[in-house]
Parts: sequence; structure tokens; C-alpha cells
Amino acid sequence: LMDGMNTVGDLFGAGKMFLPQVVKSARVMKRAVAVLTPFMEAEKAALGTAAKPNGKVLMATVKGDVHDIGKNIVGVVLGCNNYDVLDLGVMVSTEKILETARRENVDVIGLSGLITPSLDEMIGVAKEMTRQGFTIPLLIGGATTSRVHTAVKIAQYYKGGVIHVLDASRAVGVVSQLLSDEHREGYLSQLLADQEAARETFAGKRKDKAMRTLADARANRTPMDWSGYTPPVPSFTGVRTVEPTLSELVPYIDWSPFFITWELHGKYPAILTDPVVGDAASKLWDDAQEMLGKMVAERWIQPRGVYGFFPACGVGDDTVLYTDDTRETVLHTLHHLRQQTEKRAGEPNRSLSDYVAPRATGLADYVGAFACTAGAGVDEIAQKFKREHDDYSAILCAALADRFAEAFAEWLHARARADWGFSDETLSPEDLIAERYRGIRPAPGYPACPDHTEKRTLWDLCGVEERIGISLTESCAMHPASSVSGWYFAHPQSGYFAVGKIDPDQVAEYAERKGMTVEEAERWLSPALNYEPSV
Ligand code: SAH
Repeated sequence: LMDGMNTVGDLFGAGKMFLPQVVKSARVMKRAVAVLTPFMEAEKAALGTAAKPNGKVLMATVKGDVHDIGKNIVGVVLGCNNYDVLDLGVMVSTEKILETARRENVDVIGLSGLITPSLDEMIGVAKEMTRQGFTIPLLIGGATTSRVHTAVKIAQYYKGGVIHVLDASRAVGVVSQLLSDEHREGYLSQLLADQEAARETFAGKRKDKAMRTLADARANRTPMDWSGYTPPVPSFTGVRTVEPTLSELVPYIDWSPFFITWELHGKYPAILTDPVVGDAASKLWDDAQEMLGKMVAERWIQPRGVYGFFPACGVGDDTVLYTDDTRETVLHTLHHLRQQTEKRAGEPNRSLSDYVAPRATGLADYVGAFACTAGAGVDEIAQKFKREHDDYSAILCAALADRFAEAFAEWLHARARADWGFSDETLSPEDLIAERYRGIRPAPGYPACPDHTEKRTLWDLCGVEERIGISLTESCAMHPASSVSGWYFAHPQSGYFAVGKIDPDQVAEYAERKGMTVEEAERWLSPALNYEPSV
């Protein structure tokens, strides 16, 4: 069995086998080992020998984050290559990670995170490893992490080696180098040199960025012709709860990201006949359809969502929401950021507030909000599969739940547009996936609205936790995973953009509007800062 897994590992490393096949091979291995273990134990007792693992790796998703799938995949791949993997799960504090690493005498720590505040958590772990005198390598992975960020923001705080791992296919290569007596030193010195170079390039780039003052950026807001505009009036204001069945959501699933989760690159459905990954993609697709069928028929998950519409005015860079159509009593204020980088002639410095009619226009405009989840109970189902030594099904189930959550967001947005009266829509599922409709649903924490704390406003506004049970972690991640949230803007000219880098003048003013200290605002906005904050 171990020879077989070695071959699987080699073929995967050489790009001749793909992730789903590796994870399925691991299932065969684990199930066989479960059968053999009693015999091996007896033999060990008799002979006093046992197979020695290549090394011990601790894996954890940092505090405040719920990202799981990628970490689990990396764990399975390392397990296949005879590493002993200790997975502490999600939302794990620095203390627990380091205390366990010490107690279990692990060789490597791997951190995972999905959302931007997790980057700060990772810096915290690196600093604490230095303080406690650790010397083992620290691996960094997950969306929003990058080679450059690891070099520029984390590596300087820990000298034992901080290595960004792009995806599961790289994990074994990196760990085996780090644990090899022969290669470790050369690998680490090359790494440190590369990271130093990355820091220099980064410092050079930063100086080149031409910026506008906040006042100048505001003077260049998106030009809107309000005089010729009639805002659509939604069929209701306030908040509603919706509970579609899984089968209603199936037609709205965008399958391409599903294959990316499994590190198979290409667009659905062309990927199924791709000359390189087509075979692996088709088998994965068949397995996914089989599980999907069961999920729907046996109702494994009950999707739950909330959405609502609110009378609104654009006020500066904010959107003010009111309790009713008189627009006199403020319900909540949404705080937006504005692009501050220099633009080419004719290009505006955008902010989401540009898309809402200012009070002075006299127009009665509205903004919507939503949150939805297909994640309740998914963790329990995944744990059940894991107990049966079936990580493949555990990962498949979580990946499908993510698809249902995104499909739910698409379904709900279609419903919101209908409530808004955009009844002339004739859009195919492909059109919906390409978002070829009027309006947008920007998600707090994403580039047009990078501040995750705006989710707290959305939660208050829609009673998200009370109504449908999604909570926010201290980093404003949505728990359970497989949840989506965002704002609805209706203006035909509204579009997605990236706020990009911002300067101290905007951060100071934003902090004041938010009722935060500048330091706190800088912490939440750290990936967007065009400067090094003083603390
Ligand atoms: N079909 C994809 C849908 C998600 S990606 C899937 O199934 O995975 C697109 C979504 O990301 C948008 O609907 C919006 O909610 C968010 N988004 C994309 N670009 C954004 C931006 N610049 N700012 C804010 N949100 C953005």
C-alpha cells in the first residue's frame, strides 16, 4: 500500500495524476490501514518495530476564520506521502496551535486562512513563535495569502522559515525539502534571499503609486445623470426570510469554481472533455452528481436566507438607510471607501455611494441587503464521512455546500430583481453566472468594499443571526462556512471595482465616520493601506 501511495505521490508531483484521484487513493489507503491496524499493533508488540512517518505536521485554520476545504486537501495529500498530520480544525487560537506544537513535538506548522483579517492572525503566530523560541518552519496557505505577502508582511517576524504554499500540489515538495537534512539549509537560504528580493521589489513599487488626496478623489466621483433617472421601487421594504429547497437551487449552480476547488483548471462544461484533465474532471463530476442527487433527495441541508430593501440616500461616501419612506429617521449608515489612486483622464475615483441617489436629487432610492447559507449541518456530515475514513466524500460534501451557497445568492438576487420590478429579464443560467443583469451585489470584504466590519451592520439590519443562524467570528468571517452576504445596488451603471490602495487622510476620516480609532481602522484595512501604519 505504501509503495502504491508513493507512486500516487510521484505521479501527482509530476502532473500526471490529479487531486481527486489522490484523495480517492488516500481513501483506499486509510480504509486498508484501518483493517490492518490490529495486526500491525500485534506485530509491533511482537517485533518492537513500527513504520516511521516522514515527519509530523500540525495544521490549523487561524482564529476567526472558518476556511476548511483547502486545509483538509493539503492534509490528505501530506498524509498520502507518509506524513503524520495533526489537524486542529478551524478557528484555532495561537495559544492552542503553539501549545499543541510543543506538546506533540511537531516538525512543521501549517496555517490556513481565507479572509484578509487572517493575515494579521498569521503575523501574530509568527511573532509568538519567535517569542517562545520556536525553530521549526511555518507554512502559510489559503486564499488571500500570497508569496509576496508572506515575504513582505510575515517572514521578517520569524527566522525559522516562513513559506507560502500555493496549493496542495506544492505541499509535499516544500515539506520534504524542509525536513531533509541534506536540502534544508540550501532551501532555506534560497528562500530568505528570494523573500529579501520580493521585499525590495515591493518597496520600489509602493513608491511609484501616484495617489490623489481624498478631496480630489471625491471631486472625481462617478458621473451620474440623476435628472433622467427614476429609481425602481421594491415591492416591499424591511426584511424577509426565505427557505428554498436544494432542488430549486441546482439550476443556479456555477460549476467552474467547483473544479478549481479540486485544482482542476478549466471552464465547465469544456473541462469534462479537456485533453489533459478531462478524464479526472469527468469522474469527479460523476461522483459530484451522485452525491448531489442524494443531498437533494434526502434533504441533507436546509438552505436559509434573509433579504430586504431599505429607503436610502447617498451622503458623501456613505449610504444612509432610513426607517421609512419619509427618509427622516436613520436606521443605519453603510460606510464605503473611495478609490484614491491616480486615474487616467475620464476614469472616475469610484465608491459604492456613487450609485445611490443623493438627497439633493429629491429621488426616492433604495438599497438592498442579503445573507444566505447552505452550511448548517455540513460539518456534522463531513465529520461522519471522516470517521468512515472517507475524506474524499467529506471534501466533496463541503465543496457542494459551497456551490449551493453561491447558487442561493444567485437565486436570491434574481428574486430581489423581480421584487424591484426588473421583469423584462430573460436570462439563461449562463447569463446569470456571467452576471449579465442590472445591478450588483458587492460582498463586504471584497474589493469594492474591503472592510469586513460592514458585515456587522448588515447583520443588525437583517437580523441575520437570529433569523437564519449565521454568526460572525471576531474576524467577521461567516460561520458556518458555505455562507454568502452582500448589498444590492440597482442602478444600471453600478459595477464592481477594486477600492485599491488608500492614504492616511481617507483612513482617518473613515475611522471617524465608523466610530473607530485610527489604529483599529488600520488593522481592518491593513491590506488596503498605501503606507506602513505606525503601530
Ligand atoms: N458564480 C460565482 C459567484 C461568486 S463570484 C460562484 O459560484 O462562486 C462573484 C461575486 O463576488 C459577486 O456576485 C459579488 O458578490 C462578489 N464580488 C465580485 N467582485 C467584487 C468586488 N469588486 N467587490 C465586491 N464584491 C465583489
